[in-house]
Amino acid sequence: MKRTEINELGEFGIINRINSKFRKNHKTTILGIGDDAAITNTDKELILTSSDMLIEGIHFDLSYTPLKHLGYKLVMVNLSDIFSMNCYPNHILINLAISNKFSVEAIDEIYDGIKYACDEYNIDLVGGDTSSSISGLIMSCTVIGYGDKKQISYRDKAKVDDIICVSGNLGRAYLGLLVLQREKNKFIHDPKNQPDLSKYKKVIEKQLRPKARKDIIDFFNSNKIIPNSMIDISDGLSSELLHISNSSDLGFKIFEEKLPIESEIYSLSKELNIDYMEAVLSGGEEYELLFSMPLDKFENLNLDKIDITPIGHFTKNKKRILVQKDGKNIDLNTKGWIHF
Ligand code: ADP
Ligand code: MG
Repeated sequence: MKRTEINELGEFGIINRINSKFRKNHKTTILGIGDDAAITNTDKELILTSSDMLIEGIHFDLSYTPLKHLGYKLVMVNLSDIFSMNCYPNHILINLAISNKFSVEAIDEIYDGIKYACDEYNIDLVGGDTSSSISGLIMSCTVIGYGDKKQISYRDKAKVDDIICVSGNLGRAYLGLLVLQREKNKFIHDPKNQPDLSKYKKVIEKQLRPKARKDIIDFFNSNKIIPNSMIDISDGLSSELLHISNSSDLGFKIFEEKLPIESEIYSLSKELNIDYMEAVLSGGEEYELLFSMPLDKFENLNLDKIDITPIGHFTKNKKRILVQKDGKNIDLNTKGWIHF
């Protein structure tokens, strides 16, 4: 494949190349890439902003992460933070620091993934910054969304007896990471070893290419639901539950038998020699939504066409309890999940 050095194009050449790929979709985008600042407009009351970074060697390993997926994931983790406030993201800015081990074509791949995400979620890329880096790749994304005061779901507004729900199913992203790391190690020891990863497709896809759950927010909208509390699962179910619990000054009781766990989680955990509950409770990077609402609201929902699962409820007493399948109560300590 052709390799164009970054310095052949220069910073402005690269910015122009990026800009030429994107078109504007929102009337709230007044001015995008090109001037010193982007200008956006809102017909809503509030502006929501959030950023996240992805750093080579810390958050991703390029030996098994395709650059296109990385660009896509960078956008997803950011969009997820706005969805988890029950609002819609509209604009993003991307900051990129990149060393000369990368080519212009590598930047193209990253931005192909970013563009794919923008098209899929109707997002305008309105700016960013580009810099060289001494080693490796550092990317950050800032996302902007708008919302009305009454529609927002916070971490600190869960109510006693609220039903706790989670979207999707749990544990895949972490197991996907373990599989990729295992295969990398095998490859280092035997470069001729060509792994067949088709068996692990679902867990690897969840790790490399997670989806932000816009469909859940659409579902709330069409059902006129505003969850009392909501958070996205970036650090693991247990840790996110503790966040809501601490912020809302409540305890909770969740039930192992109710947790959405696919059968492959059990078999793959066994294969990888870990406790499946470690993947389910502490596995990060799920980007599923964890939220709560009153029982009467929950009971009126038709969940036939959406993957929302009730897993327990918030309690007045401050205990954080997981009821195991065998009926035993486990205290989820403040560090999140610990081995039995
Ligand atoms: P300045 O020197 O004023 O910071 P830049 O030359 O860095 O301006 O950026 C020029 C324009 O290109 C700005 O609109 C900026 O937001 C945008 N931009 C720069 N780098 C990126 C990038 N990596 N992705 C998207 N937009 C970018
Ligand atoms: Mg700049």
